[in-house]
Amino acid sequence: MAERIDGKSVSAKVKEEVRLETEKLKEQGIVPGLAVVLVGDDPASRTYVNNKKKACAQVGFYSEEYALPATTSQEELMDLVDRLNHDPKINGILVQSPLPKGLDEEAVVEAISPEKDVDAFHPSNVGRIMIGNFHFLPCTPAGVIELLKTAGVTIAGKNCVVIGRSNIVGKPMAMLLLHENGTVTICHSKTQNLKEICRQADILIAAVGRKHFVTADMVKPGAAVIDVGINRDENGKLCGDVDFEAVEKIASCITPVPGGVGPMTIAMLMKNTLSAAKIQHGLPL
Ligand code: NDP
Repeated sequence: MAERIDGKSVSAKVKEEVRLETEKLKEQGIVPGLAVVLVGDDPASRTYVNNKKKACAQVGFYSEEYALPATTSQEELMDLVDRLNHDPKINGILVQSPLPKGLDEEAVVEAISPEKDVDAFHPSNVGRIMIGNFHFLPCTPAGVIELLKTAGVTIAGKNCVVIGRSNIVGKPMAMLLLHENGTVTICHSKTQNLKEICRQADILIAAVGRKHFVTADMVKPGAAVIDVGINRDENGKLCGDVDFEAVEKIASCITPVPGGVGPMTIAMLMKNTLSAAKIQHGLPL
């Protein structure tokens, strides 16, 4: 039976480290600040924003929330980002995606100052990740790496398969595994022989967005399986991309949903905001 990797406890540990470092910064008169911008009334986005605000309070950050109506214009949103870029109390800016239809998300991301882009979505930060010279790592993939390390999984030299190639999860995930010296394969909807490729994986990462997509016959016995997916089953219950019950019997370790990767994303956001505050005050990371 696989070891369950407890994302809640690992995220609590990361947040506690951030809280202790924040206390030290406060002695120097520095309070890390995060601005979270929510446009529209998507309930899932509202939950994410609430969780982010709660985490800010836990670690001792200053935080501001901007809840804007779905009718907000591109110009109004860009003006807000510009104001936050210049606000010295704010070290990190996060615009919750997805934005309502009609708003240009790419333009908004590009308008965020790269030093305050704690999601690491700005092209300049994406380029830095590609090169391997980065300040911030994208939160979800960075959380996955942290979970693997905590579980004692060696990445170097291992076959790593990432299912999904989105800009926020799949691609940066593959890049971080490569930086850790994994041998990485990225799969997507046009991939042929997906099952065979997945069965080669020592580390299998699912970021598809489909319930029970990864079945037991796709998993190599003893593999580490990380489930990034967040889906709802027919009863509205949260579930991941992996058929957890069946795969748990084969894998060496596995993340549950909920309680796996999800809490790590927020913990890594706190870590990035702390790094942003240090960089903006000329302190070493
Ligand atoms: P996207 O929809 O942007 O990407 C999904 C990827 O899955 C695409 O690259 C797509 O391929 C691939 N895919 C779809 N169908 C198949 C298939 N049949 N075979 C192989 N690959 C397939 O989703 P995201 O990357 O944004 O998110 C993925 C999941 O992770 C979602 O459930 C999301 O909710 C969750 N998530 C969780 C987070 C967390 O904190 N735990 C944070 C962010 C996301 P193609 O490119 O060819 O279309």
